[in-house]
Amino acid sequence: MKFCSQCLQDTELHPIIEGLRQTENSCPVCKKRKAFIYDTEVNSELTEYFEGLLEIYTPENMLPSGFPATERRLLVTELTDRWHIFDYKLTSTDVYNIIRAICTEKYAESPNLFDAPIGIAELNDAEFLKAHSLLRTNVWDDFVDSVKRHNRFHTNHIDLSILERYCSFIRKVYRKGSIFFRGRISSEDGILPADMGAPLFDKAAAGRVNSAGISCLYLASDLDTTIHEIRAGIFDFVSVGRFELKQDIVIVDLKAINHISPFIDGCDFLEHAINKEHLNRINMEIGRTLRRTDSVLDYIPTQYIADFIKSISYDGKPEYSGIEYNSTINPSGQNLAIFYPDLFTCTDVDVYHIKELRYEKEKLL
Ligand SMILES: [Zn+2]
Repeated sequence: MKFCSQCLQDTELHPIIEGLRQTENSCPVCKKRKAFIYDTEVNSELTEYFEGLLEIYTPENMLPSGFPATERRLLVTELTDRWHIFDYKLTSTDVYNIIRAICTEKYAESPNLFDAPIGIAELNDAEFLKAHSLLRTNVWDDFVDSVKRHNRFHTNHIDLSILERYCSFIRKVYRKGSIFFRGRISSEDGILPADMGAPLFDKAAAGRVNSAGISCLYLASDLDTTIHEIRAGIFDFVSVGRFELKQDIVIVDLKAINHISPFIDGCDFLEHAINKEHLNRINMEIGRTLRRTDSVLDYIPTQYIADFIKSISYDGKPEYSGIEYNSTINPSGQNLAIFYPDLFTCTDVDVYHIKELRYEKEKLL
C-alpha cells in the first residue's frame, strides 16, 4: 500500500517518509500532488514505531474486569483521537488500511489489536498511576485543594520532574524582532509607550501566571485577542501597544501539548497517555476567562506551575522566558506571559474606540 507524508501529521514520522526521497505525482490516499511516498511493499522504516506503540495496548478480552467502558476503543480511534498521528481528513478506513499494511506481521499475530476494542491497562492501575502521573493522586482538583488550602509553596501533589521533562518537549523559540500586543483601557488621549509595560513589582496584582508583587508582562498575538482579553466595554477607549522582542528567547508553548509526538526522543508512551489530559488542563486553566466572582486564591494552582517553569535553569541560566497559552475568549488567538518584562520594548501605541459589543447567550431557566 502507498500513502504519503501528508497523510500523517506526526512531527517525528514526517521527516522519515520525506527522507526516503520517493515522490509521485499524487498520493493515492489523500490525493496530495507531488507527494513524498511510503510504500509498505518496499519500506519498513515505520513498522518499529507502530509496533512499539501497540505494545502498550491490551485486547478487550484480556483487560481487567473493572476497566472502564469509556477507555475501551478501536485502535483507529486511539491513533487519531489520542495520538493525532494521521491527518484529520483521512477516513477511519484509510487509517485502518495504512496501519494494517505497516504492521502486517503484528496483524497476523494478534488481529484482535486491530479489529476489536483495546485499552491501556495501566490507565486503571492505581499503583502505576501513582508512580507515573504528573499529579500524585491523578486528580487535578486534589492538587488545587492542596495548594489553595494546605501547603502553598511545598505541595507534594505534583511531580515536578515530569513537568520539567514535558516543558522540554514543547519549548519554542521566538526570534528578536517578534511583535506582540498589549492593551489597556484608557482615555481618548491614549497612554504613552513608556507607560504601557507591566506594572512595577509594588503595583503588580495577582494574575494566572504571577503572584501579587511579582511583575509579569501579559501579551497577545494580535489586536483582536488583546481587545477581547482586557474585556473592553462599549464606548471604551483602548490603548494598544505594539511590543517588540529585544533578543531571541525560549518559552514553554502549552498549546502544543496535543501535538507532542508519542515518538519523540525521551517520551514514554504510557507516561504520555497518562499525563496528556493533565497538561491540557494546565493550558486550559492558565487561559481560563476570569469571572467577577473569582477569588485570587483561584490563581494559585497556575501561579505555582508558572513559578516552577520560571525556576527551571541549566548551567545556572533560566531556560524559559515565559509561557504561551490559548486565549479562551478569542479561540483563534494566543497569549504570552513573559517572566522578564524588560525583554520587550513598546515601540508605539494606537488608540481605539469600542463601537459595538456582541453578547452570546444561552437560556438556562
Ligand atoms: Zn497522502
